[in-house]
Amino acid sequence: MSVRPVVARRIDCCYDAFVPAAHSIERPKDRKQMIVLKFGGTSVRNAAYIDKCLDIAVRRIEHAPVLVFSAMSGVTDALIELAALSGAGDADGAGEVLSKLRSRHFSVLDSFGDAGPAAETRRALTDMFDQLESLSRGLLLLRECSSRTLDAITAFGELMSTTLVAFRAIQRNIDCTFIDARTVIRTDESFTAAVPDMAATRASIRAEIKPEPDSLVVTQGFIGATAAGATTTLGRGGSDYSATLIGAALGAREVQIWTDVHGIMTCDPRIVPEARTVAKISYAEAAELAYFGAKVVHPSSIQPAIDESIPVLVKNTSDPDGACTAIVDHTLDVGVRAIAGKKSVTLVNITSSRMLNAYGFLRRIFDIFEACRTSVDLIATSEVSVSVTVDDTRALDTIVTDLRQVGSVSTEQGLSIVSLVGQDLWKDSAFVAEVFQELRSVPIRMISLGASDINLSTVVPDESFFEAIRKLHSRFFGPG
Ligand code: ASP
Ligand code: MG
Repeated sequence: MSVRPVVARRIDCCYDAFVPAAHSIERPKDRKQMIVLKFGGTSVRNAAYIDKCLDIAVRRIEHAPVLVFSAMSGVTDALIELAALSGAGDADGAGEVLSKLRSRHFSVLDSFGDAGPAAETRRALTDMFDQLESLSRGLLLLRECSSRTLDAITAFGELMSTTLVAFRAIQRNIDCTFIDARTVIRTDESFTAAVPDMAATRASIRAEIKPEPDSLVVTQGFIGATAAGATTTLGRGGSDYSATLIGAALGAREVQIWTDVHGIMTCDPRIVPEARTVAKISYAEAAELAYFGAKVVHPSSIQPAIDESIPVLVKNTSDPDGACTAIVDHTLDVGVRAIAGKKSVTLVNITSSRMLNAYGFLRRIFDIFEACRTSVDLIATSEVSVSVTVDDTRALDTIVTDLRQVGSVSTEQGLSIVSLVGQDLWKDSAFVAEVFQELRSVPIRMISLGASDINLSTVVPDESFFEAIRKLHSRFFGPG
């Protein structure tokens, strides 16, 4: 994943991470001070959590927050199931899914009580469920579900969660404007994976969303519309992308992603219980970690923030004052940021004496991987051999057969990648020595160092995976 090089603007402080809570913060004089808060599905999982989100937003209300919400947790999956069952002609199954969704949303509304515009909200929700039911009935008749219809259905998850949130805000006397994201996120017609038209989206965000101090804007993640007005979605997990698009268009001071974990950790806590939150990490470092399944934020989903050098904070809705991670343009601290790993990769070695002083060998090798749509992760080469790791082995047999045209081939399974990610690690060769000192009892099958100055990767047997990670973690982050 390539990330744009460091841009001139430096972010010295991120509001939430570094401004002491007791300090009164100056009111924003222009939009540049505004912030975007994105709340994921688990953050709106029930009525109590919706209140937590509003509490978090109210504490920051002088920064004119724009709130971007996912559907309640599990709702997008349920809507996809509804569409699939309807398209397959399973009326009973579809009816069951629909009635569960209905009771889940109405029970949240009920638990908020009758104050405020409860009746209007009930009508709005009823209307949405009527539409969903009609769509489902249409699919049951047609026995098909196009991606266009699927988007029309899944969009209701976000429309319903935000309807409940906006209602609750009004009920609590919080000044709040509801924006239907389909009026601002303008996309192409690639339903289920729509691509925003950046210029049009930016212009309509600026025209429609007017953040004001002491007031909230509530809108949906994930959804958009084509120029002709058809509902689209940006793809699963697309709410982060919506949030950073809005933040970039409005020149937000920061985008906060509120989720159910304490940001990015120094290691997977299931492997190393002493793992702790990384306070600050660069976009490029976060991108390296994303490959290893640090799924907290995906680099492509925060690209609009990266393009504008807007810091992205990852915070925990269940523990708003707890540890969090700031993902920033660049950090000034040299050192290991995190250790990550991936089990069960396969090493493919290609050796040929014809490679010596020849050219075009690598191209021939990579053409074979490309033809088999298999992504190569780590690479090491010598004059007469090339070693690569692959994660996806579905096409391995074909790949090996084709590679035999180029040289002799061997494969090794049951290996793991263990990577250290951090800035400028390799400028200090003592560091590299420390890594290998720590791994002296681990049989290392391959090393990839120097391809990027922020990643040192080793390939070790699966049996040594936990040992290697724990040793490195305790060496570079201490026992806890
Ligand atoms: N609700 C959508 C999904 O579950 C989008 C999101 O949560 O980001 O994929
Ligand atoms: Mg989500």
